[in-house]
Amino acid sequence: MNDFIQPLSDEYKDIYFIQGELNARYPYSHSLLVGDYLIDTGISSKRLRKLKKIFPINHVILSHWHEDHISGNYLLKDAKFYCHLKDKPPIEDIEMMIPYYNVAGTPIENEMRKLIEVLRMKNVKIDDLIEENQIIDIGDELKLQVIFTPGHTAGHCSFYELSTKVAFLGDIDLSKYPYYGNIDASLIEFENSIARIKDLDVNIVVTGHRGVIEGRSKIREEIEKYESILQDRDERILSHFPERSKPIKLIDFKGKNIIYRRYTAFKDFELIAELLMIEKHFEKFLKDDIISKKKNGYILN
Ligand SMILES: [Zn+2]
Repeated sequence: MNDFIQPLSDEYKDIYFIQGELNARYPYSHSLLVGDYLIDTGISSKRLRKLKKIFPINHVILSHWHEDHISGNYLLKDAKFYCHLKDKPPIEDIEMMIPYYNVAGTPIENEMRKLIEVLRMKNVKIDDLIEENQIIDIGDELKLQVIFTPGHTAGHCSFYELSTKVAFLGDIDLSKYPYYGNIDASLIEFENSIARIKDLDVNIVVTGHRGVIEGRSKIREEIEKYESILQDRDERILSHFPERSKPIKLIDFKGKNIIYRRYTAFKDFELIAELLMIEKHFEKFLKDDIISKKKNGYILN
């Protein structure tokens, strides 16, 4: 059965939603196939093998460097690979993911190496870079526009097909768990990118982990819900600041279930990612003059 391959438009036969294994629960993600261009390769090795038997995949565009979006690269060695300049280093050298996740020297480092081995991930060479507003002509009818949407990673891109108004938003994933827990992430950029996406004239969006969402107003509603999760996190972090200008350090926020309401079997990783994400909120608060940095920590203004 190949029911993980679903056409998205009656009018244009060349755009398919490719559902990731386990409905794209980590370590898998959804892909979009536009003509002979595949966006992201994290659907699972099994599904990717089936997919390439049915469709020629001559080009692979990677939305960003995360392992759950690039794990199948090794199965598409003959295709041309594309990504944004800023995400190229950890795609060409996956060892770099370890410092990017800030887990070097922790027990997570080994777990991550094991995962890379289990997924059989391999380095690939990027053949060409993609950049903001670039339009990729696919076949006679399809035009895929690159929308540079950094934040989740420094080089994260989304894609917008102009004739069908179908967009692939990568890990602006419209899930309940917006993520910016790697050193190259930025919450300020993430929120700007989400705001840009909200203005797109779209009929259908596909995200890396939520799958297909149809209808302009439904899409807008989902984006606003996503934004409100970030605002809730702002409030929860700010509510942990003591009154009377007593300084508090970033490390004081460790293990407080501020972003992860419950830690799971991946607790060691979640603690590191949570603190990194809280740091990204601090960056925003500093920029917006909500907090100040003092010798002994941060205070509310
Ligand atoms: Zn990601």
